Amino acid sequence: MERTFSIIKPDAVSRNLIGQITQRFEDNGLRVIASKMKRLTTEEAENFYAEHKGREFYEPLVAYMTSAPIIVQVLEGEDAIAKNRQIMGATDPAKAEAGTIRSDFALSVRENSAHGSDSPESAAREIAFFFNEDELC
Ligand code: ATP
Ligand code: MG
Repeated sequence: MERTFSIIKPDAVSRNLIGQITQRFEDNGLRVIASKMKRLTTEEAENFYAEHKGREFYEPLVAYMTSAPIIVQVLEGEDAIAKNRQIMGATDPAKAEAGTIRSDFALSVRENSAHGSDSPESAAREIAFFFNEDELC
């Protein structure tokens, strides 16, 4: 069993898509083992996306991620990292496969409805960023 970290981003929470997005994870064999709603501070968003610091999209990304509440979740299942990214689709909704979260719900490359860890190392870092071990059920 593998764990991954997921965010339902501000654009999706604002449009009442928490249930529909979570349903897709559950329908594909991923179990929610931790979940909370949160409004990121600028410092938290900057640290979370530190790998992108200096890129042209970094500052607007931080502004967007702090603009409204998000849902942070830990998902567990077989091949959870790859499966979650498959369910989300490509970063750019215009390039995302039909039937994926980003193809169906995302508004733009930035406001793309979901985040999912891209490697076991990112998953471990991102889970620890938001959750204590005793919050994982
Ligand atoms: P995530 O890390 O959110 O799962 P990702 O791994 O598909 O998405 P990254 O390249 O890590 O994409 O970029 C992180 C986030 O930054 C993207 O999800 C998107 O919100 C934003 N982003 C990335 N590239 C661009 C861009 N060219 N223009 C605007 N926003 C972008
Ligand atoms: Mg990424």
